[in-house]
Amino acid sequence: MSDPPADWRLEAKPYYRATGDECERFEAAWSQRLPVLLKGPTGCGKTRFVEHMAWRLGKPLVTVACNEDTTAGDLVGRWLLDAAGTRWQDGPLTLAARHGAICYLDEIVEARADTAVVIHPLTDTRRMLPLERHGELVKAHADFALVVSYNPGGSRGLKASTRQRFCGFEFGYPGCEEEAEILMHEAGIEVELASSLVALGCRSRRLAGHGLEEGASTRMLVRTAQLVRAGMTPAAACRMALVAPLTDDAPLRDALLAAVDASF
Ligand code: ADP
Repeated sequence: MSDPPADWRLEAKPYYRATGDECERFEAAWSQRLPVLLKGPTGCGKTRFVEHMAWRLGKPLVTVACNEDTTAGDLVGRWLLDAAGTRWQDGPLTLAARHGAICYLDEIVEARADTAVVIHPLTDTRRMLPLERHGELVKAHADFALVVSYNPGGSRGLKASTRQRFCGFEFGYPGCEEEAEILMHEAGIEVELASSLVALGCRSRRLAGHGLEEGASTRMLVRTAQLVRAGMTPAAACRMALVAPLTDDAPLRDALLAAVDASF
């Protein structure tokens, strides 16, 4: 049997350290095919959570990383011209709706405003996707589900008319012990180093709003740990994967470097 979203099936179970009952809540939303909104700072585990849930539910996951150039056309599809003439190519949202995959629109607020027009009919009881350019109204497959994410700390917000169509999950950084466990798993480091990196990450997060837009994410801590694993000293790894990407502001950089030196 043909399986168009085969490329989107997850081959192995993505590791996800739950921080509460979010997996069970997601399953409840999915059982009713309710659209889901994941809110939280960048790099705190939203994408990994969706990957884990798609694997758990045995569904393909079609992911779109939205940016300011993402249009409704990019999501639904377009006509292509080739030697044989013109042919329609489904975009990722259409592919997921037609064949019953979970569609994850990461950083939805970055996409152009016209994307809301195609998402809205998929998020209510109609579960329809109008393909105006193809002259087709796609009825979503029974297994289709829509998940979107955004960072409420970012410069753009999500319109209330869109937000109110979703069930919300609030994500934050994992607790200290959980985050250390994640670093140990993702980078293969020991508990002492993991705990020191997490403590440093927490210190940087306290600077958020005091000059720093956001503190170190779990992703940044994982990368720092990976550099140590690759042979760098913890202090050098922190300078490269934490301090440099976090700020260009000299006094803040000095404050972060002092925290690094105090930690290692
Ligand atoms: P987001 O989508 O929120 O920007 P990601 O899901 O890409 O962030 O998380 C970044 C990285 O942090 C992941 O690749 C993973 O290594 C790690 N991570 C964060 N939270 C978790 C978690 N709860 N369980 C496992 N890994 C996590």
